[in-house]
Amino acid sequence: MGLSDCSFCLIAEESNENELIAVNRSAVAFFDKYPVSQGHALVIPKRHEANFFKLLPEEQLDVWKLLNEVHLVLSDMFQPDGFNVGINVAEAGGQTVGHAHVHLIPRYGGDVEDPRGGVRWVIPYNAPYWGTK
Ligand code: AMP
Ligand code: ZN
Repeated sequence: MGLSDCSFCLIAEESNENELIAVNRSAVAFFDKYPVSQGHALVIPKRHEANFFKLLPEEQLDVWKLLNEVHLVLSDMFQPDGFNVGINVAEAGGQTVGHAHVHLIPRYGGDVEDPRGGVRWVIPYNAPYWGTK
């Protein structure tokens, strides 16, 4: 895939810096265009690579460092009560944009009726384990 075919590569370009929440050596962060909650953000490597696990260790580290920065920014901006952090890897894992990204999803008390399990709900029929022995 050429860089111009990837919307996340375009966002990562310097010319779009005004869209960014934060940036470091090899990662950038921006707000999700279709947020599942207020402040839903994505942290991506600057380099085009679909699979998070194929990133170089230093790229993964930069993504993770930026995630911590964005957590502080979102906490200050929106005062959420919690967060979900998630990486969808490959089609079977639910990935729809082929440029690796980490979701940082602020959570607010009462945003769903029963938040227990959080990311376990990617597979709803196995999500609830509480109440089992
Ligand atoms: P995933 O399903 O894990 O690949 O997530 C892709 C995410 O990218 C979704 O949460 C989308 O809302 C978000 N998204 C798609 N296109 C854009 C875009 N142009 N700018 C910002 N976020 C986007
Ligand atoms: Zn890309």
